Amino acid sequence: MIEEADEMETRGSGWSFQEVTYLELKINKYDPLYASSYIDLPEELKIYYHGDDAVNQFISMLQEDTKKIEAFIKEKEEKYKDIKNMIDFDKKHYNQTNKCVICEQKFLPDDKKVKDHCHLTGKYRGPAHEACNLNYEIPKFIPVIIHNLSGYDARLFIKKLDFDESRLDVIPNNEERYISFSKKFGNYLKLRFIDSFKFMSFSIDKLSKNLRSAKNLKSVFKETAKHFPEDQLDLITRKGVYPYDYMDCEEKYEETELPSKEAFYNRLNECDISDEDYKHAQNVWKSFNIKNLREYSELYVKFSKNLEMFV
Ligand SMILES: [Zn+2]
Repeated sequence: MIEEADEMETRGSGWSFQEVTYLELKINKYDPLYASSYIDLPEELKIYYHGDDAVNQFISMLQEDTKKIEAFIKEKEEKYKDIKNMIDFDKKHYNQTNKCVICEQKFLPDDKKVKDHCHLTGKYRGPAHEACNLNYEIPKFIPVIIHNLSGYDARLFIKKLDFDESRLDVIPNNEERYISFSKKFGNYLKLRFIDSFKFMSFSIDKLSKNLRSAKNLKSVFKETAKHFPEDQLDLITRKGVYPYDYMDCEEKYEETELPSKEAFYNRLNECDISDEDYKHAQNVWKSFNIKNLREYSELYVKFSKNLEMFV
């Protein structure tokens, strides 16, 4: 806070900071009950967990997935690494192309041009400089993209990432916020946790409002429109509401009715949801024929995902 005050003064605001007369600290405790992958992943890698100890469970699922990916890379490399096993070589393309497929620079008269192919699919990629081709490596890290990682989820993760001796590399922003961190999850592959929120200039809410102002929802949400009739599409392209504070134990997922409006009270921000928002929740519950809070939660996660896809 003092830093911020200093900054404000140096920016020439004309104000100067003298004392703090009042300080209110709001604390809330969250125990995550739910962990899943947002982005559509191959079936073998899909993460979905529901229950106690979600953070630890999520981390072990990530470890398993990393090992699967390592095994996949190893298998494919053994099969395709040798240039003799290259697939779909296009001789005409190779002879006529005068730009390296890797660095995108032109070939100079002294440059050695070689055939470049993908070690995971075996497919011919194009001509490349010999050096570029030799230096090309399959990345040794996998990005794990988490929305608002540095604002929230990082706090859940950081403490749980000491499951073995390998080092945790952290890029801190300040004492409390971490921009990104990475750690070895498999034998050699690292997972690099990054924050998709950092790439967004608008909040989800604002974003969805902008998108919805487009004349035809169907044309904006093309993929989603394939799966839902228009009236439902209208519902899921609006930011959903969720009773975060109310959902404090596993049993609540089995409740078969939408909780009251009061249950949507947000303790951290000390606010209720609007009548309009509650009406929206009721509409969603009805329109999607929701049977219990578990289904509502799952749909809520899907909503957010849909909106984020348009960032
Ligand atoms: Zn090159």
